[in-house]
Amino acid sequence: MPLDSLHDLYLTELKDLYSAENQLLKALPRMAKGASSPDLRAAFTEHLEVTRRQVDRLDTIFEGLGVKAKGKKCKAMEGLIEEGKEVLAEDGDPAVVDAALICSAQKVEHYEIAGYGCARTFARLLGYPDAEALLQQTLDEEGEADKRLTALAETVVNAEAEEADDGEPAGGRRAGGGR
Ligand code: FE
Ligand code: FE
Ligand code: ZN
Ligand code: FE
Repeated sequence: MPLDSLHDLYLTELKDLYSAENQLLKALPRMAKGASSPDLRAAFTEHLEVTRRQVDRLDTIFEGLGVKAKGKKCKAMEGLIEEGKEVLAEDGDPAVVDAALICSAQKVEHYEIAGYGCARTFARLLGYPDAEALLQQTLDEEGEADKRLTALAETVVNAEAEEADDGEPAGGRRAGGGR
């Protein structure tokens, strides 16, 4: 789509976010399954529910504009999810794998925060207060998800340190894959 107007750019960003969120709907259950910490698993499962509502909000905005939501693939999210898959394919200390999953998930949240921040500002500049409010709501949720992941990273890393205190080397619980 040529970017001749801010409205064109707004649609492009919305479609990118729509693609990103729909890719995440498929990825989050895998992330949940790969998490060892019950708290981390719960965070991924709950963010899946939040993500469904975020897709609904985008649907509402597209309906209001009379535009189809599809037509653009977010390659950045595809890449971020691909890196998450690399983490899931590793075996190793469960706490360290969890820390890596948190890191992957935070990269996703930061990408979304950037995208929604832009789209929200464009909605404001274009005079769409309803869409602006919906996009702000999602932006706030992504920020909360990011903060929750930061807090979880600290508990996961603490668990790892305690294990090391028990006299066991930090990598000592490595599954005996013998690779
Ligand atoms: Fe999202
Ligand atoms: Fe993108
Ligand atoms: Zn995107
Ligand atoms: Fe998110």
